[in-house]
Amino acid sequence: EGYRQLLVASEQIFDVGFRRLADQPFDRLTNMLAQIPSLVRLKSHLTVSQLVNRYMKHDLIRQAFSIHPLLVGGNPFNTTSIYALIHFLEREWGVHFAMGGTGAVVNALRGLMERNGINIRLNTDIERINIDKRLAESVTTTEGEVIEADRVICNADPPTVYKQMIDKSAGTKGKIIPDAMTRYSMGLFVLYFGTTCTYPNVAHHTIWMGERYQALLHDIFNKKILAEDFSLYLHRPTATDASFAPAGMDSFYVLCPVPNTMGGQDWNEEGQALRDRIVAALDRTIMPGLKDTITSDFWMTPDDFKTDYRSMHGAGFSIAPVFTQSAWFRYHNRDRRVGNLYFSAAGAHPGAGMPGVLCSAKVVENLVIRDESTL
Ligand SMILES: Cc1cc2nc3c(=O)[nH]c(=O)nc-3n(C[C@H](O)[C@H](O)[C@H](O)COP(=O)(O)OP(=O)(O)OC[C@H]3O[C@@H](n4cnc5c(N)ncnc54)[C@H](O)[C@@H]3O)c2cc1C
Repeated sequence: EGYRQLLVASEQIFDVGFRRLADQPFDRLTNMLAQIPSLVRLKSHLTVSQLVNRYMKHDLIRQAFSIHPLLVGGNPFNTTSIYALIHFLEREWGVHFAMGGTGAVVNALRGLMERNGINIRLNTDIERINIDKRLAESVTTTEGEVIEADRVICNADPPTVYKQMIDKSAGTKGKIIPDAMTRYSMGLFVLYFGTTCTYPNVAHHTIWMGERYQALLHDIFNKKILAEDFSLYLHRPTATDASFAPAGMDSFYVLCPVPNTMGGQDWNEEGQALRDRIVAALDRTIMPGLKDTITSDFWMTPDDFKTDYRSMHGAGFSIAPVFTQSAWFRYHNRDRRVGNLYFSAAGAHPGAGMPGVLCSAKVVENLVIRDESTL
């Protein structure tokens, strides 16, 4: 009964938070003010954990139904309950897997762009966005090439763009909350591996919970220490798509929330040790024999997110999805002062995850159409 009531609450949040607002620009304070009655009615000031606790009584059930903010980089104990909409979203539209994996999604998007005559340049790193008189005029690559532009739409991490790619004198303004008060999502340790046998009893998606819940999240998000214990998300794509491994074998990744680089961990030291602890824990529980069957493993740490993806502080999901960093308070999809500089990314409205970033692309599309029509 508690679950049914939670689902009703989740649907009400979904109707407002996703259907009505996710692809709307929050570029004006009036957009935000207009939503305040709905946000109050939906109790958005509560955290996901507080909302779930209203309907669920058992500690373990409470944990199971409050983990969803972690999928978008938030601590369930301080993420706005707007993110409880994920329950209903999953029930309404299902949990999907693109055959061929994320690479297949990327290829499909590339095909769509090419069919629309968009020229894609790979392996081109943008070092600077050149702004003059409140207009973004061009970008400069690390090779020194200057590419002129009528509009610059950034998919890179907004805090990194503002701090490292734009001159301070350009007068840009991305979000309301000052940098010193900005809270970042956790880091991710992602361990990829194959196995020389199959584990048919392991589902496509498994959440593997450790003994501690709130205290562990406190270590990761607030104290930023790497504890000995952990909770894991285990992904077994071969449960759905056999092409991910040779016949008779399996393919996996494990996602382990860890402190972002603000924790100062030395991942050259910690990486191997954490990998060994995770393999031992899975071997002991749901993947017997893993220590001997594991093959071709490699991992990514918050350091890699920082260097490879230029994610500020190596955060897995850009700035955290707390209330004071959501909607109008999040990085705006168009700079507040430089009118032809746009953001379609996890750190911009509405937020992280594939549905979130695709919605942010829709917001930018609408803004560009609006801006073109007022020229
Ligand atoms: C292991 C893992 C599993 C996930 N699983 C899911 C899932 O199942 N479902 C879901 O919805 N979400 C999932 N997510 C989250 C989702 O992938 C992200 O939220 C989303 O990809 C963020 O999109 P983005 O466009 O903002 O950033 P990204 O996807 O990181 O794209 C930004 C790109 O910009 C490039 N870039 C950055 N700076 C520059 C520069 N200066 N010049 C040139 N290029 C630059 C980066 O290299 C990167 O390729 C997962 C994330 C991880 C890490």
